[in-house]
Amino acid sequence: MLDLEVINGTVVSAEGQARLDVGVDGGRVVLLAAPGSLPAAAETIDATGLLVLPGTIDSHFHCRAPSFPEREDFASGTRAAAAGGVTTVLEMPISVPPTTDGTTLALRRAHAQRDAYVDVGFYSSSATLDRDRIGSAVAEGAVALKAFLQEVPAGRESEFDGLCIHRNDEILRALELVTETGLPAVFHAEDYPTYSLLERRLRDAGRHDPPAHGEGRPDYVEALAIGNLILLAAATGARLHIPHVSSALAVDVIRDGKRRGVSVTAETCPQYLALTAAALQEHGPYAKCNPPLKSADDVAGLWEGLRDGTIDTVATDHSPFTPADKEPGWDNIWRANPGFPGVDILTPFLIGAALDGKLPLERAVTLITANPADIFGLAPRKGRLIPGADADLVLYDPTVRDTVDTASWQTRAQSSGRVWQGYPLTGRVLTTMVRGTIVYDRGEIVGSPGYGAIVRPTKTSVTPVALDQSAIHVVAS
Ligand SMILES: [Zn+2]
Repeated sequence: MLDLEVINGTVVSAEGQARLDVGVDGGRVVLLAAPGSLPAAAETIDATGLLVLPGTIDSHFHCRAPSFPEREDFASGTRAAAAGGVTTVLEMPISVPPTTDGTTLALRRAHAQRDAYVDVGFYSSSATLDRDRIGSAVAEGAVALKAFLQEVPAGRESEFDGLCIHRNDEILRALELVTETGLPAVFHAEDYPTYSLLERRLRDAGRHDPPAHGEGRPDYVEALAIGNLILLAAATGARLHIPHVSSALAVDVIRDGKRRGVSVTAETCPQYLALTAAALQEHGPYAKCNPPLKSADDVAGLWEGLRDGTIDTVATDHSPFTPADKEPGWDNIWRANPGFPGVDILTPFLIGAALDGKLPLERAVTLITANPADIFGLAPRKGRLIPGADADLVLYDPTVRDTVDTASWQTRAQSSGRVWQGYPLTGRVLTTMVRGTIVYDRGEIVGSPGYGAIVRPTKTSVTPVALDQSAIHVVAS
């Protein structure tokens, strides 16, 4: 007898799309079968008219616990994830203390084990350039090693200490050390000396209006850093992963790197696919993020990158802040913290876009499930809807038209999500299930804190996407 069956739905995953019943037992998917052919189950969910998707992995997530609980903690952040169809979040290293070794990772992990509603994995840092500290984080289950290419931001020393490098000799050393671990080397990619000069010129000219933030970090600032990283990754054999790609120019540079056979994968985020720098005029500091929002041509270039396989994942860079962190930016944009929340809408944003014809539905699902699972070593337990995978499932109603009301968001930072207010979505997450247990159902959180488990990489050798218009997939080696 199965624990659970999900019947009469349309299963969509990286493996394809078909009318299949899903049998769940012991928290795992155990059978996929033609409708009506599963053995008996203790519980039945009728998914007639619904899409049955593997749970989304948000591979770029900040809840920052234990620092700043007024912004977010693992409870509020993973409730928001559950509402957004996200069954696994990968938490970035920024916190107090930041995640820079096994000890700090374990400290942060304890907060997730107590509070999380969905599964959680942790990044650590490569920027210490310390093999022992990097190794201890890997031993504690780090999924990737991140560095920010900048000086430690003034006033945020306690959050960023050990996360920042920017000279090429430091980047080279970081790539060498990360390569020894087999994990992805992840870098916030904007060229620090260049944008520092541009921002200084703007400040010297008396500019502190919100659009000045975007002008200080034009597309070539991002593309310079990414091109630099790709050259250094090629020299070291590192597995490079570029988060939050924001410009068409950067997509071109990554496409070229892939064509040259460099091991590089890339992520973009809903905000870069939906919004432009005009949002800085309208929403002021609430639209400030790094890299900044760009132009309509950049939005088009990013969608092209998703369709042709240049970009491998879509994640949120969910960055909860309070109005107190943002409001000072109306008068002086340089004083607002960068970033805003978004995990509440990750799945409907991308699946809705596919239903609207922006990209094939299987491709959309792959970008938020199988590809992040492969890149971060979580496959096949995560990111797949196949026998043996965790029963992380999303039931998605493709028929409803929704508009975002951030007041209904689960994130504690809902009042900083105003760039998304009123955004139209096609379809809706009805139910989110983590390892066979429903954690979100029709607008209600029904899971419990501490249910979320810690994920760690099971395999760390993944070759990046081949550029192939007809059959785009990440190949696990
Ligand atoms: Zn981030």
